[in-house]
Amino acid sequence: MSMAIHYSIYPQDPYAHLFAVSINIDKPDASGQLLRLPTWIPGSYMIRDFARNVIKLSARSNDADIQVKKIDKSTWKVEPCEGPLCIEYQVYAWDLSVRAAHLDQTHAYFNGTSVFLEVVGQAESPCLLDIKNASIAEAGSWKVATSLVEESAARYGFGTYSAENYDDLIDHPVEICDFTLAHFEAAGVQHDFVLAGKHYADVERICRDLKKICEYQINFFGKPAPVSRYVFITWVVGDGYGGLEHRASTSLICSRADLPIQGEEKISDGYKTFLGLCSHEYFHTWNVKRIKPDSFLPYQLDKESHTPLLWAFEGITSYYDDLILNRCGLISDEEYLQLVAKNLTRVLRNPGRFNQSISESSFDAWTKFYKQDENAINGIVSYYTKGSVAAMGLDLLMRDISSGAVSLDHVMQRLWQNHGKTLTGVAEFDIQNICFELLGGKNDELQDYFSTMIYGTADYPLEQLFEKFGVQMSVRIRENAQDTGGAASKPDSSILPWLGATIAATNNGESGVKLVNVIANGPAHRCGLSANDVIIAIDGLKISKDTFERQLRLLKGKQCMIVHAFRDDVLMQFEVSVENPPADTVFFTVADDSKIAGWLSAL
Ligand code: ZN
Repeated sequence: MSMAIHYSIYPQDPYAHLFAVSINIDKPDASGQLLRLPTWIPGSYMIRDFARNVIKLSARSNDADIQVKKIDKSTWKVEPCEGPLCIEYQVYAWDLSVRAAHLDQTHAYFNGTSVFLEVVGQAESPCLLDIKNASIAEAGSWKVATSLVEESAARYGFGTYSAENYDDLIDHPVEICDFTLAHFEAAGVQHDFVLAGKHYADVERICRDLKKICEYQINFFGKPAPVSRYVFITWVVGDGYGGLEHRASTSLICSRADLPIQGEEKISDGYKTFLGLCSHEYFHTWNVKRIKPDSFLPYQLDKESHTPLLWAFEGITSYYDDLILNRCGLISDEEYLQLVAKNLTRVLRNPGRFNQSISESSFDAWTKFYKQDENAINGIVSYYTKGSVAAMGLDLLMRDISSGAVSLDHVMQRLWQNHGKTLTGVAEFDIQNICFELLGGKNDELQDYFSTMIYGTADYPLEQLFEKFGVQMSVRIRENAQDTGGAASKPDSSILPWLGATIAATNNGESGVKLVNVIANGPAHRCGLSANDVIIAIDGLKISKDTFERQLRLLKGKQCMIVHAFRDDVLMQFEVSVENPPADTVFFTVADDSKIAGWLSAL
């Protein structure tokens, strides 16, 4: 066994958001040790160049300073020396997201990808990590939440932790503060639920619900669980949402109002969203952290790592996250169908689906999905949203073709057995081939489904599939900007004329509304209005975000309206046709109760 690389991290100056990090290397590369920081964090497919936050890096050996030179944006080269070598640097940490590092007087949080340099050539060496507490008074009651294995540290304590190698070291985020801590056991595995930030949550209820989700998923893929302990690290903020999966933990951000409070009994939409997020990240423990695309074995963290399969890793995970809430009894069939209808509505309102397949969207995630601009709605498709619809259709189609004998559950279980357990990468057509195998051979209907839904850009007639499971899919006109689908029209509703654009208040709170996106082939597009134009008057009357809908409603039944808008500082006039919105809003009705179990139940 090679010698351990010894890291240490200290929240040195929380007010300046600076961590101090050191690395001790017993046997540095005699020809000059290379050190590098990842440019991206697995699970979030964008180059983030974490090295830009590294400050004042220095090297010493036997009390002598050693020269260090930067050789590219993320790599340093240390002059040849005997060793042991000690590297010291600071990391600026002021990114309030689950992807990087954040430090102030309220907490310290980091992902290893933001703070720990890789000792090139020794990535397979075991690592030790000393986690020290900040010296400020506010840190007196701080403790440590992480799924890293304790070496000499007590659980939740400061001290030394260990990792098998560099890849392991950077896959366990660490939260340090005076957090709320709760535990539950699922299928014999200890789970910690950590809630950081000001909150009023009924933590016992959350743990009760999470236990059901975790037990379900462990049994779904088959015991034993792939982890011996799992940690949910959650930050509560005023308004936020997000999560990132790791091999034995997840980092989540949620909105305070989404968590249930003591005494509350029904499940709010916000709490459904939170449980769906937990279910999603937990499912990744299998699907993407162990069942991985071949290009992630190993991760190439110095540059983009393309895969055409994010539709499977994110889309299938997005399908099961809510479905599992239903299978665990946390949401009713009706509530589940409402979530599916809202998701289908998002797909139908995204004309970009005609320009990009979810396989292409997966491949180009780095430069398109993660770098969305005002034209994203027209140019690209989400491998999450349409990906989850594709997964649902695949599940229904396999259940239909096999008369209820085979489902997507079996595909996931096969992927776990053949790829996840053995860490064998998933190649582009492996999933398709597993589907064929499970159905007893190549199948034209399924081949057509993959060509259309995964590799193509045309809509697939899903309503015919739903019908076979007793569910009728209806598509209606949207009522207003707040209408996200999931239910039939309200009886007293009146349709608002449609501009074909999303709007926002102007930046400086002046009158007028700013166009955020202009939908391809909508009225705004056809008359020449563009994203970022500021509409100041409709039909000669001044408008603001508050009066916009009221003014549109008055023009119902007219042929066209005159719109005045500024593009930069130039006033322009447009003639916009007045028309109804397209039918892009989905809701379901259960036509035959006896058939729906054929879809929603496990096989
Ligand atoms: Zn995900």
